[in-house]
Amino acid sequence: MSYEIVCGLEIHAELSTATKIWCGCENAFGGEPNTRCCPVCTGLPGALPVLNRRVVEFAVKAGLAMHCEIAPRSVMARKNYFYPDMPKAYQISQFEKPMCIGGYVDVETSQGPRRIRITRIHIEEDAGKLLHDAYGTGTLVDLNRCGVPLIEIVGEPDLRSSEETKNYMEAVREILEAIAVSDVKMQEGSMRADVNVSIRPVGETALGTRTEMKNLNSFRAVQRAVDAEAKRQEALLAAGKKVVQETRQWDDNRGESRGMRGKEDAQDYRYFPEPDLLPILVTPEDVARIAAELPELPAARRARYVGTLGIAPADAELLTRSRAEAGMFEDVLAQGVGVRAAVTWMVVELFGRLNTTGRSAADLPFGGADLGRLVALVEAAKVNPGSARRILAELMEKGGEPGRLAESMGLMAVSDAGGLSVAIATALAQNATALADYRSGSAKAFGFLMGQAMKAAGGRADPKLLSAALREALDGAGNGEA
Ligand code: ADP
Ligand code: MG
Ligand code: ZN
Repeated sequence: MSYEIVCGLEIHAELSTATKIWCGCENAFGGEPNTRCCPVCTGLPGALPVLNRRVVEFAVKAGLAMHCEIAPRSVMARKNYFYPDMPKAYQISQFEKPMCIGGYVDVETSQGPRRIRITRIHIEEDAGKLLHDAYGTGTLVDLNRCGVPLIEIVGEPDLRSSEETKNYMEAVREILEAIAVSDVKMQEGSMRADVNVSIRPVGETALGTRTEMKNLNSFRAVQRAVDAEAKRQEALLAAGKKVVQETRQWDDNRGESRGMRGKEDAQDYRYFPEPDLLPILVTPEDVARIAAELPELPAARRARYVGTLGIAPADAELLTRSRAEAGMFEDVLAQGVGVRAAVTWMVVELFGRLNTTGRSAADLPFGGADLGRLVALVEAAKVNPGSARRILAELMEKGGEPGRLAESMGLMAVSDAGGLSVAIATALAQNATALADYRSGSAKAFGFLMGQAMKAAGGRADPKLLSAALREALDGAGNGEA
């Protein structure tokens, strides 16, 4: 019997607001344990939460970017449980009335595009962290993460393979990054997913029994976990056994999951409306204002790059990987340079250097406008490509203005007839043999003489102009072959 995989993800993303969801504590990763918290975010008795307006705006933004309906009225709820990462013994979340309802995310897969439905997006607070065996004396708790604002994006069980599941998570990450509501640093846990997996015979429409693996925080782990879990379930069915609905712990080092708790002891959270917070009202005007602030999303931008600008899909993919990179490319284009040149300087020259140095576009000491000016200098033959590469290297170290750097580094192109003919005369005088070879029909000799003339020009000549001038010097009237 052959089975198909069915997955649904619950993705948690920390919102990158300046302060936490209920108090003025700084919302930042790390810090000395228990220094970034106060009576409110740790939930000491009597402390009252006050909702951070930015959290609502960020959640609405995420909802709109994923085509959800925004609830005009949503309600915070208490999810009651005891665990030492949350001193007040409940998490403030949303339950019956979430903020965003019924959207979708379009995902590219090797089988073509797929639309994955979103059930809901709600806001909630994060909990602290337990540090097991940090000092060999039991478990310590760090409450800095208490009250960090989260959105939870609950997806429908629409995913049909591990690849699709991974691509969906990447698509969600890309959207959250593009709209700047989360720093989506998976390794810091600011984006993580609970992965629900079931299998069913191909052709069956009812859902099979699912298991859930919590808190996976890399794409690779998600993909491997789905495959391993589907295999495990298939083996159970093949042996005539049943899949038990349970929470399982994925161990990425071992590449396997193990059972944690079954449905028997499934928790009853006793949700009830949070009495210390008012319902959240979002007006149509709020929604319209936030919608107007949404930037072009990565998928739309890629489609425009390929469709309208004629950029190769692989390059479009690279140019839209992050907000910083896409923004930089837009700024290069805004300098009025050709698309092809802009793509080459971004993808080949800049990304190439970033890859080899392990740096990221977000922390360069120059912007897209500077790179655009450099490309414009090349297009105007004021700086030749070799010199422009040296200027780019300098920009990457110290930043600066390309035109001024070209002057101060002595890299302005030799393009005037006088300068070119001096270089050519020098090259011809010093290379009599090559000149003779050329005269007796050697095509190679031309290339050699061209190299020598470029050297005599200090590497700064415009190659096209120099080549034409050299032809002219050798053959008399230009033969159009430059
Ligand atoms: P809970 O909140 O108890 O985890 P939900 O019914 O809200 O349960 O579902 C949570 C997630 O599990 C959703 O992302 C949903 O798509 C997914 N899911 C539900 N049923 C299945 C199933 N049979 N197989 C795979 N995923 C499922
Ligand atoms: Mg769940
Ligand atoms: Zn606080």
